Amino acid sequence: MSKVIVIGGGIIGLASAYYLRKKGCEVVVMEKGEPGAACSRGNMGWICPTLSEPVPAPGLVKTTLKWMLSPDSPLYIKPTIVPSLFPWLYQFWRNCNEAAFEKGYDAGLLLSRETFKLFDELEREKQVQFEMHRKGLLFVFLKEKMVEEKFHELQKAAKIGLPLPEIKTRSEVLDMEPALSTSIAGGLYLPAERHVRPKSLSKGLCKWLVENGVEVKTNCEVTDFILQEGKMTGIRINHEVLEGDQFLLTTGVWTHQLLKNLDLNIPMTAGKGYSITISNPSTTLNHPLYLGDSKVGLSPFHDAIRIGGTMELSGINTSMNTKRISSLEKSVSKYLKTSITGSKKVWVGMRPMTPDGLPILGPVPTFNNLYVASGHAMSGISMSLATGVIMANLIYDSQSPINLTPFSPERFSLPAANQT
Ligand SMILES: Cc1cc2nc3c(=O)[nH]c(=O)nc-3n(C[C@H](O)[C@H](O)[C@H](O)COP(=O)(O)OP(=O)(O)OC[C@H]3O[C@@H](n4cnc5c(N)ncnc54)[C@H](O)[C@@H]3O)c2cc1C
Repeated sequence: MSKVIVIGGGIIGLASAYYLRKKGCEVVVMEKGEPGAACSRGNMGWICPTLSEPVPAPGLVKTTLKWMLSPDSPLYIKPTIVPSLFPWLYQFWRNCNEAAFEKGYDAGLLLSRETFKLFDELEREKQVQFEMHRKGLLFVFLKEKMVEEKFHELQKAAKIGLPLPEIKTRSEVLDMEPALSTSIAGGLYLPAERHVRPKSLSKGLCKWLVENGVEVKTNCEVTDFILQEGKMTGIRINHEVLEGDQFLLTTGVWTHQLLKNLDLNIPMTAGKGYSITISNPSTTLNHPLYLGDSKVGLSPFHDAIRIGGTMELSGINTSMNTKRISSLEKSVSKYLKTSITGSKKVWVGMRPMTPDGLPILGPVPTFNNLYVASGHAMSGISMSLATGVIMANLIYDSQSPINLTPFSPERFSLPAANQT
């Protein structure tokens, strides 16, 4: 039986370990902290294949330059980070055009086409319990012209058989969501999208792994790789060595740093986002909401509402920018009748971001037994199961259910760099 070592116990590592184990592999998950506790914890939990578009988009260069001056804008680049981030930023900006956006959106949709089926199957798995809601996703806008714009952008999802967004008038939106204020101009409803409580998904998968013979090692940081005659034979955890046959890197935003040990450069940076989880909230929401003008999301869970969003490029660190956290609440106040009160918990997460907005999935050049699955940016929860299936097929059967060319680790050709 082939022994696969999965390095990184975020949602991508856990989902990959799940499908690898189902294929009969011996699997060990190495996690430097607690499984599911990094970016996979306090996010919005949207399972939203319709929103598979890449982050770099036409017109974003001009907007980012303008937003750089405003620390509470939806996308903020910390000016002092620009010199060290420049190689990444340069590639990102080069991808902000129509052709790259369309190509990236098609690739994202292809990756996401089995998403709902996979979540249905996981839900039927008795040993995996997690909180999932089938309430669709409601986009709301303060400016009417944005309803049309977004409607046209989201048409593409029909390509993978998803229903088209439904345009809603102000009064229809207010009927669906009475907590919203009359400042709303209109909305779009995506009926098929779902959301999960992210912590419950990681916990459910992790429990299944442990009960089904996967060793999940916590507080174990992989510091290096062991190579023999050009082949990877093991990993190093401080002074210990663990041997394996195949290795899968699912280390999120830290992937770039770990691959540097092999003189490989994969451009990756952190797209920091914040969330505020309000337990026992004073307000009830019937759907997850996307506040289209402010680019802020709200997710209703069983006993809480989570507000989240913002994209901040300020390096790999979890320091919190209080201005950006309060801007989330300020945005919400423009859309809701009353503010949401309750016990609040603030969280910061680092989205693993590639400069073309697509995840990196596949074997690492020059090593035939080392694979990467990382860089899922805004969609790691949504794309987790599809990614797990692909990586398990690739590692176990040497084939993928979809064409992986757009996601290949080899698509980057930067000289050795110092991405932040
Ligand atoms: C505010 C916000 C809202 C979001 N909302 C959504 C959403 O609604 N839907 C969606 O699909 N996505 C969403 N995302 C994105 C999603 O959270 C990420 O894409 C996803 O969590 C990435 O998962 P990951 O497993 O790649 O990374 P991580 O969860 O960061 O996991 C990587 C793991 O690797 C471990 N690790 C790193 N280095 C080592 C090492 N050397 N040795 C051992 N272990 C190591 C880390 O400790 C970590 O646990 C959101 C993100 C943010 C910030």
